[in-house]
Amino acid sequence: MDNRIDKPDDLQERGFLDRIGNRILALVGTTFLLGTVGVTILFTQDLERTILSQHERSLNILTETVGSGLQTIMQSGSAEIAESYVEDIKQVKDLSQIRILRTDGREAFIDNETILHVNKLMGGEVYSNRDVITGTTSSPSELEKIRLAVEKKQNQTLSTTHPENGDAQLTVFYPIPNLEECMSCHGEDHAVRGILEVTTSMQQAKEEISAMRTRIILVQLGALLLILTIIFKRIHHYVVKPIERLNQSMQAMTDGAIEQKADVEGSSEFRMMAVCFNKMSSELARTHSGLQDERDKLTTIILSAKEGIIVTDKNEQIVLVNPSAERLLGKDMDEICQSGFRNILNDPEHLAAIMKKDVQSVPDIIVFNSRMLQIQATTIFSNDQEMVGSAALIRDVTQEKELERELRHLSNTDALTGLFNRRRFDMVLDEEYRRAKRYNLMLGLLLFDVDHFKKFNDTYGHDQGDRVLQAIGKVMNCHFRDIDHPCRYGGEEFCAVLPSTGLEGVEIAAERLREKIEEMRVDELQVTISIGVAIYPDSGSKNPEQLLKMADDALYQAKEKGRNQVRFAPTAKKKKKNS
Ligand code: GH3
Ligand code: MG
Ligand code: MG
Repeated sequence: MDNRIDKPDDLQERGFLDRIGNRILALVGTTFLLGTVGVTILFTQDLERTILSQHERSLNILTETVGSGLQTIMQSGSAEIAESYVEDIKQVKDLSQIRILRTDGREAFIDNETILHVNKLMGGEVYSNRDVITGTTSSPSELEKIRLAVEKKQNQTLSTTHPENGDAQLTVFYPIPNLEECMSCHGEDHAVRGILEVTTSMQQAKEEISAMRTRIILVQLGALLLILTIIFKRIHHYVVKPIERLNQSMQAMTDGAIEQKADVEGSSEFRMMAVCFNKMSSELARTHSGLQDERDKLTTIILSAKEGIIVTDKNEQIVLVNPSAERLLGKDMDEICQSGFRNILNDPEHLAAIMKKDVQSVPDIIVFNSRMLQIQATTIFSNDQEMVGSAALIRDVTQEKELERELRHLSNTDALTGLFNRRRFDMVLDEEYRRAKRYNLMLGLLLFDVDHFKKFNDTYGHDQGDRVLQAIGKVMNCHFRDIDHPCRYGGEEFCAVLPSTGLEGVEIAAERLREKIEEMRVDELQVTISIGVAIYPDSGSKNPEQLLKMADDALYQAKEKGRNQVRFAPTAKKKKKNS
C-alpha cells in the first residue's frame, strides 16, 4: 500500500513571510518601530519647544539688559555713546539685527527730530544736530508687535525668516519705559519712550535640534535592532524550532513513516502538541497494522475462495483476479485483464444486464466453458455514493444444479417402481386437465388395482409382492407413449394420464395393458388387474378431482363385475354402447 501523501505546494517552496518566526518578528518589529517613531516624534517636538522657549527667554533677558544699558547711557546724556553701544552690541555673534525704534516704528538716531524736541524742552541747543541718514523700515507684522509692546508695555516676540537666506529668526520688541529721569529731556507725554528691537538667528538652534533628533533616531534604531535580535533568537528557540521539529515529524509521516514520533521537549503548548502527535501516530500505526492484517486475511480468503472473484477500479481497470476466476473462465489473468471486465463472459451485453440486476431478461446462470456458472456482478459505491469500482462473483453451480435435478426427480419418483409418484401425478393431472380444457382436447385417465393382492402377499410374501409391483412398473414404462404419464398412485394401485386421447385410444391402451399384465410372469407367478377409465370431456367432469373419482368408481365397477377387466365411467360407457 502506498502511504505517500502529496505535500502542499506552500510547504515545498516558502517565501520569507511564510515562515512563522519571520511573521512574528515582522509583526513585533513593525509594532515596535511604529511605537518608537511615535515616541521619537512626540519627544523631539517637546524638546524642540523647550529649546525654542529657552532661546526666547534668553533673548528677552538679553534685550531687556541691552535696553537698561541704553537707558543708563542716555540718562548720562551721552546719546552718541548710546549709538556706539548699539553698534558694539550688533557685533555679538548670532545677533543679526538691533534697532532702536520710535513708538511709531520709525528708526531712531537717523534724523534731528528727537534732538530738536529735547533742545526745545531743555531750553537751548543742548544737543547739536546730526547728519540725516536713511533708516530701515518696519514690516506690517513688526509694526503690529511694536504697537502691542507700546500698548501693553510688555516684550513682544516675532518669529520670521531671513528675507535673503531663509534662516529662521526671532525678534524681541522691548518697550523702553519713559522713566522719571528721562522726562526732563523727553517730556511726560508717553509712558514708553521707544522700542528696542533685537533679532537673533534661530538657525543654530534649529540645527542643534535636527542633530539631536538624528542622534535620538540612531539610538532608537540601535535599540530596536538589539531588541529585534533578542526577540528573533527567543522566537527561534521557543517557537520556530519546536514547530519545525513537529513539522519534520509530520512530513516524515506523510512520506510513509507512520510510526514517526516527535521530540517531546520543554513545557510549552508544543510539548502537548508533540505528545498528542505521538499518540495520534501510535493510534494510526495500530490502525494501519490492523488494516494490513485484515487485508491479508481478506487476500487469503479471496485467493483460496472456490468462487471466482474479479474486481476493477473506478476506471474499470481490473485490479484483482483470483485463481478460481481463472479456472472457471478458462483464461489466465493476463487474458482477463486484456479483454476487460465487460468481456469476462465474452458477452458484454449479458454482463451489463446482470450488473443492472435485469435477471428477468437474462439468466444469471449460464453455461460457460462446459460448466454452469452463476454470475453476480455489481458496481461498488463508497459511503458518499461515489463509484469506486466493479466486482464480479462467479460460482460454479454445475454440481449444485445436478443435485437439484436429482432431488427434484427423487421427490417426484416412486422408489420401488421408478414411476412418477402420487405427488407428481396430482401435478400432471392438474396441468393436463387445464391444458385439455383450454385447448378443447380430450384427456384419458386410467386407474387400476392389482386383484387380490393381499392374498398374494399373504401367500408369497411381501418381497415377492414388491417384485410384482416392480415388474408392473416396467411394463407401464414400456407400454405407454412418450407423452403419457404412467404413475404409481399408491400401494398396488397405478394410474396413467393420457393427453389428447379419447375413448377409443384409452380403451385400446387399457385393454392391452390388462392383457400384458395377465401374460406377465414374475417368478412363474401371475397377477391380474382391474382397470377403471374416465375421459374428459366425455365423463362430464368439472375438475381433475371429479375425473379421478369417476375413474375410481369405474375401477370399483370392474372389481364388482369380477376383476381382470376394464370398466369406463358412465358417460363414456354410454357412448361406447351407442357406438
Ligand atoms: P382386490 O382385488 O379387491 O383389490 O383385493 P386386494 O387384496 O388387492 O385388496 P386391496 O386392494 O384392498 O389390498 C391391498 C393390498 O395390497 C394390501 C397390501 O398387502 C398390498 N400392498 C399395498 N402396497 C403394497 C406394497 O407396496 N407392496 C406389497 N408387497 N404389497 C402391497
Ligand atoms: Mg387396492
Ligand atoms: Mg387390489
